[in-house]
Amino acid sequence: MSQFLVAIDGPAGSGKSSVSKQVARELGFGYLDTGAAYRALAWSVQNLENFGLELLPAKDLAADFDYKISLDPDDYWVRVGNHELTAAIRTSEVAESVSSVARIPEVRVFMKDLTRDLVAKSSYPGVVVEGRDITTVVAPDAEIKILLTASEAVRLKRRSAELSEATAASVKRQVSERDASDSKVVDFMTPAPGVQLVDSSDLNFEQTVNAVVSLIEQSGSTKESK
Ligand code: C5P
Repeated sequence: MSQFLVAIDGPAGSGKSSVSKQVARELGFGYLDTGAAYRALAWSVQNLENFGLELLPAKDLAADFDYKISLDPDDYWVRVGNHELTAAIRTSEVAESVSSVARIPEVRVFMKDLTRDLVAKSSYPGVVVEGRDITTVVAPDAEIKILLTASEAVRLKRRSAELSEATAASVKRQVSERDASDSKVVDFMTPAPGVQLVDSSDLNFEQTVNAVVSLIEQSGSTKESK
């Protein structure tokens, strides 16, 4: 991957998607939401023939999972084949089942290759890539590596505001239980060596974006990439 990479990991409700998108806008970079591919695969398991969970380990996902995502932070969309899934992958059904897809080792290997390929084929000078294992597995050599976190209470509150229809129990399943399940597979709660921690518990959106942008600017390397 020859582009300038900003790798951002963090738990559910940490604000990493909206923060990463805004950071990408400010830098003129692409924005890659890696959780969308896991969600699109979970949607496929629920809605498409021949995508049963038990079939995934042996499936040739590179051939059978026709996944497309936009890296434009101002025009975000997700598709599988002819299905426009931008909104469909945000339902509670998908959020509550996605961990069972993400824990399959063969799926994770496929997702790592898919992410690297999407970055390599993009025409942006740099890409902000966000997820759970970007700083550790997908792009451990990224120029900037950040773990964006917030206290559990703050994360639950943010997600409840986004999911106005969901019950408190469902929000808890989509945040705390999902994180507990996901953390069995990858550690995104403590920063790995070389990963900088940004705790947004007491920061608003703009302050969090500024904290991330200043870490990138302090590194001094974006100027060379432009
Ligand atoms: O970030 P988002 O909440 O959309 O991620 C959805 C799910 O995808 C996570 O709960 C996790 O199971 C999985 N995921 C992952 N590794 C990533 C990104 C997401 O396992 N890099």
